[in-house]
Amino acid sequence: MSHTAMLTFDGHNDLLLNLWLHHRDAPAAAFFNGIERGHLDFPRMQQGGFAGGLFAIFVPPLAYITQMAPHHAEQPYQPLEIMWQQLDILQQIAACSHGRAKLCRSAAEIAECRASGVLALVAHIEGADALDGEGELLTEFYQAGVRSIGPFWNLPNRFGYGVNGRFPASPDTGDGLTAEGKAFIQQANALHMMIDVSHMNEKAFWDTARLSCAPLVATHSNAHALCAQPRNLTDAQLEAIRASGGVVGINFGNAFLRADGKRDSDTPLAEIVKHCDHLLRTMGPEHVALGSDFDGISTPDALGDVSGLPRLFAALRDAGYDQALSEKLAWGNWQRVLQQTWQQ
Ligand code: ZN
Repeated sequence: MSHTAMLTFDGHNDLLLNLWLHHRDAPAAAFFNGIERGHLDFPRMQQGGFAGGLFAIFVPPLAYITQMAPHHAEQPYQPLEIMWQQLDILQQIAACSHGRAKLCRSAAEIAECRASGVLALVAHIEGADALDGEGELLTEFYQAGVRSIGPFWNLPNRFGYGVNGRFPASPDTGDGLTAEGKAFIQQANALHMMIDVSHMNEKAFWDTARLSCAPLVATHSNAHALCAQPRNLTDAQLEAIRASGGVVGINFGNAFLRADGKRDSDTPLAEIVKHCDHLLRTMGPEHVALGSDFDGISTPDALGDVSGLPRLFAALRDAGYDQALSEKLAWGNWQRVLQQTWQQ
């Protein structure tokens, strides 16, 4: 690791989908040897100081699988099976790591990983579409090691309506949680599982804010005031997250950063710094963290992949962020909110 790399815990990535689509036969070997496609693999994580994060189990729509990996599309589309396969990939990474990576189920395990130079893996579910309304599968995934869940991706399901709207748009794109969605929040609370509000529309967000007894956490979202993406958070939402003791992980996707909402990768690192500044002004230093969305978005060329993280911290330093603040953004705020959520 370069001496400038800051140890970083990251709120969201889609590595497991990349491995499931393109390296299903030997995912752990691909991860440790290096992957050409995408932003993440073990060698580049070490270069960038990426030392832990939430790894999303995500079942894309069938049309996406057909487009990205036509050879898999011949198999029947079984979303629940795909979820277990992706969790298995994460477990294989830990099992084949020779002590270099560990599936973490507690904040204490994450802290131990940091202290001993072991990559901390936390399993997260993005989109609960394949789960039941009674919480039985949620419990099974919890028992298998999953510690965080967002009920939605971009589409409606039995629990409610994921945020869905074109740029520019308000996050107020439809109805909130269904009755099953409200029960789901309570089931997740009862398991002490973290609930991710990143893909919720505004009504579902406020329903969750009213119902949940845990801190509100958006693992990979930015400031709507700077980029009017419906996936980004309004100042009122940021204020509610702060009041709950929660955290927002900043998303590195060009379309979530830029004022014009374009995917253009000619986006300076200063755009990420602007979102950090806005979140800090609105919420204070205890509530801002990183949520790259690596392998799920197009990043600024100035950042590139995970090995570019030291350039982001250099940009923050140039913008006046001192070491203590950068360490909160890089690790401390995630460590605190996970501990608080999981121990409740
Ligand atoms: Zn997402």
